[in-house]
Amino acid sequence: MSTQKTPITVARGDGIGPEIMDATLRILEAAGARLDIHEIEIGEKLYNQGIMNGISDESWDKLRETKVFLKAPIFTTMGGGFNSLNVTVRKTLGLYANVRPCVSYHPFIKTNFPNMDVVIVRENEEDLYAGIEYSQVDGAVQSIKMITRAGSERICRYAFEYAKANGRKKVTCMVKDNIMKMADGLFYEVFQEIAAEYPDIEQERYIVDIGMARVAANPTEFDVIVTENLYGDIVSDIAAEVTGSVGLGISANIGESCAMFEAMHGTAPDIAGQGIANPSGLLLGSIMMLTHIGQGDVASRVHNAWLKTIEDGIHTGDIYQEGISKQRVGTDEFTKAVIERMGQKPETMAVKDYPSVAGGLKLPPLKQRDVVGKTLIGADVFVEWRDADRASGSDALANIARQALVEGIDLSIISNRGTKVWPDGQAETFCAPLWRLRYKSTNGQEVMNSQVTKMLDNLYGVGLPFVKVEKLYEFDNGKPGFTKAQGE
Ligand code: NAD
Repeated sequence: MSTQKTPITVARGDGIGPEIMDATLRILEAAGARLDIHEIEIGEKLYNQGIMNGISDESWDKLRETKVFLKAPIFTTMGGGFNSLNVTVRKTLGLYANVRPCVSYHPFIKTNFPNMDVVIVRENEEDLYAGIEYSQVDGAVQSIKMITRAGSERICRYAFEYAKANGRKKVTCMVKDNIMKMADGLFYEVFQEIAAEYPDIEQERYIVDIGMARVAANPTEFDVIVTENLYGDIVSDIAAEVTGSVGLGISANIGESCAMFEAMHGTAPDIAGQGIANPSGLLLGSIMMLTHIGQGDVASRVHNAWLKTIEDGIHTGDIYQEGISKQRVGTDEFTKAVIERMGQKPETMAVKDYPSVAGGLKLPPLKQRDVVGKTLIGADVFVEWRDADRASGSDALANIARQALVEGIDLSIISNRGTKVWPDGQAETFCAPLWRLRYKSTNGQEVMNSQVTKMLDNLYGVGLPFVKVEKLYEFDNGKPGFTKAQGE
């Protein structure tokens, strides 16, 4: 066991952040954690100083230097305002895997599922969290869902390696590939490829909506769940709440060289400053940090003291239950109770004994793949047009759009909000003023770039300026680089 102190960066965050971080650091100190703590300020205080990304250059330096970050929750504006600093930190430091264990503490914390022990492995860098959004037409917005083969491979590999290292039996993939056939289809395709390398681990797939419903109704069916960023965010809050409180949820963000540990919940503005927040999520996150930096002895001490406190019925308001709990306490009393039990072990729940091995899972390099060639066969051109709001009015738009045609390209369909509205548009089909004109080569052959740009020029000429263009490719492996419109 090394007596050397490990440098870590700490941020106290916003809302209940300072209260739960103070509690966590007091418990870690009492447990003899060997930490060289570097504090940084991020979040609301910096926004108020006009630092709109919420973090200074010096803090970035500190994070890159220490490589380990214990972070309290930070405030993010809803709707407009600044971008989420959480997402920025995760992506900038390459923290691709978000690991969220959700465990029940029956019979000491009320839950309908005494044996629940689910780990959610959430992709942490891609998906709708890329935050790439556009509005080229007043009243219509598009968000880009970014899924890559590399991102999917890393997270699926992580899930299986995690399962292998932790004696887990099953990995469940949750996707919505019946609707997002390309994005979620790619994620699931990669999942299957990686799963084939782990024949000893059971694999299954759920469409995410019924998958989440099952997590809420019968979480003991699940072991490890791997999923995309947004689904992972939602399903892990459901799972944490099912264990008894979102205040118990842990979030470990793991990258190749850096790692960040936090509570799953947010800044809880409704209870901030009242001294009643449950510090358990952040504390349990710090236990994952201690195992990551090789201080398994301290991690075991803290975890056992925390379990004993929970067993003794000393509970914060969010988990307090008449008939189960013994004492309703605030953050400070809860902290003192854990410190008083340092060195003790739980009597009913399993005693923790973590190994002292530093570093997380080491993943093999990404699979090498040949780059597949592609052929340009047309373009989807988005235009703003306000002369009709029903599909039955789209003939007029088609007539103008056809005037822009160049040799070798034809108007194939028009769609609106993803549904085909021309030809044969129906009077019932409502349309937004953002229309998609699908132009394709007449003979299925390659289209030249110059033909597309000429057509875009022509559209200006006929009074239909384009607001966005997506090129249509066909890949040499036979895969189209675009989906059909609904009804196409
Ligand atoms: P929240 O998780 O902060 O709160 C949801 C509910 O759970 C509230 O009723 C709250 O009182 C309760 N709760 C949360 N943590 C608790 C704890 N430790 N003890 C007792 N009760 C607790 O979610 P929200 O209200 O949707 O978000 C508030 C802010 O937090 C937003 O600005 C959001 O962007 C931010 N947020 C930050 C993070 C992060 O920093 N990782 C994560 C999620 C949300």
